Amino acid sequence: MKDRNADVVVVGGGIVGCSTAYYLAKRGVSVVVCEKGDVGLEQSSRNWGFVRQQGRDEAELPLMMACNRIWQSLEAELEADLEWIQGGNIALAYNHERLGFLEQWLPIAKEHGLETSLLSAQQLRKLVPAAKSNLLGAMFTSSDGQAEPQKVCPAFQRAAKTKGARFMTGCAVERIEIQNGSVSGVYTEHGYIRTSTVVCAAGAWSTRLMRPLGVRLPSLWIKGSVARVAPVRTLTPAGVWGRTAFRQRSDGRLYMALGVEGEHDLMIDSLRFFPAYIPVYLHNRKELKLKLGRVLIDDLFGRYDDFSRHRALDPQPSRKEIEQAVRYMQAEYEGLKSMTIERMWAGYMDCTPDMLPVIDALTRPRGLVLATGFSGHGFGMGPIVGKMVSEIILDAKPSLDLNALRFSRFKEGIKTRSTQVV
Ligand SMILES: Cc1cc2nc3c(=O)[nH]c(=O)nc-3n(C[C@H](O)[C@H](O)[C@H](O)COP(=O)(O)OP(=O)(O)OC[C@H]3O[C@@H](n4cnc5c(N)ncnc54)[C@H](O)[C@@H]3O)c2cc1C
Repeated sequence: MKDRNADVVVVGGGIVGCSTAYYLAKRGVSVVVCEKGDVGLEQSSRNWGFVRQQGRDEAELPLMMACNRIWQSLEAELEADLEWIQGGNIALAYNHERLGFLEQWLPIAKEHGLETSLLSAQQLRKLVPAAKSNLLGAMFTSSDGQAEPQKVCPAFQRAAKTKGARFMTGCAVERIEIQNGSVSGVYTEHGYIRTSTVVCAAGAWSTRLMRPLGVRLPSLWIKGSVARVAPVRTLTPAGVWGRTAFRQRSDGRLYMALGVEGEHDLMIDSLRFFPAYIPVYLHNRKELKLKLGRVLIDDLFGRYDDFSRHRALDPQPSRKEIEQAVRYMQAEYEGLKSMTIERMWAGYMDCTPDMLPVIDALTRPRGLVLATGFSGHGFGMGPIVGKMVSEIILDAKPSLDLNALRFSRFKEGIKTRSTQVV
């Protein structure tokens, strides 16, 4: 890069970094995205592709409702095929406990004016004719949708570039430089870039990037395994979240994963942040497996300290989880006796103690904006987050209230009663 200055440097080329670059460049800001691998190689291309408002915590819901409107015209805006399908989102009631749990979210939808209803077993079968009678019903939000994760970051990148944004791929940011309490530049593996504003959109790496600055960002990695299944009978255009979560692409293929289970590979941060995670762990202990192994050893040997060592985090998917997901699908839907797994992969989600992201400009150091910690549901929100970050930088105050997502909540004591229901 010839010009070693930028108004803004974005660290991370996932959906958050790429959309931030797009919205900043659109408003004439000189922006450089530094990405240690290539755009969208970590969480942003490994997720299920659900774009849902349904089941979100109240702190996120207005943001996600605004984002849903963006998604509806995003293909036109970016001039790209994103495989956007507005087929709704279904949260399945596979037992009575689950039904009661889902019902709790209906008043939240109503309060925010989001059309969401509870479906009987019969109504569910009208939407998903293959659903078997062991499914008791569902919660349905018709305006939700899905998109193809592999296509979204490259589309934002292309559109941002046409507006003047610069992307440095294979370029890890090693350190953020602070002078007199303000950001003054970044040291990358390909040299120094002078800037007064840095956006931390580094996903699972954000905690490590922030640590040398004295910014204590609690976030732990949760692994999710996903499979792509060869075309099967037509099930539904809706994203479906039950014991198995799946969405069906227009070519009949399924993206499929276990709906509620996840694995946490223990690492040094697991101990460091342990007290903050006790409530979320106790709430999810049946679904969350703790694993002691390779990741901790690598961490103890400092193998995650050098950002350029891992161009893309690529954890081993759990075959056991995928096989269990297949069994659930076969138990809950007709006509799925033979399902061929074409591909399996896994990704690490960056989860905060209250499972909410941080979208905030810090006062110390000045010039540092955090947009990270999306806790397993940042793909759907990605476009609006980029817009909000651009407003934080350019307008001082974003057009939507982000107070609940402020960084200082971790010090103040986070609320532990989440209103998320998935
Ligand atoms: C299995 C799975 C299923 C999911 N399903 C859904 C879903 O259906 N719907 C939904 O809304 N969300 C889902 N999510 C969550 C969603 O994918 C993430 O919340 C979202 O992609 C986060 O985007 P991001 O840009 O913050 O992070 P990422 O996509 O992880 O991007 C961060 C980028 O920063 C780069 N980086 C890090 N450190 C540095 C550095 N020092 N220098 C340069 N670059 C750096 C990384 O290489 C990476 O590319 C899922 C996640 C997983 C793993």
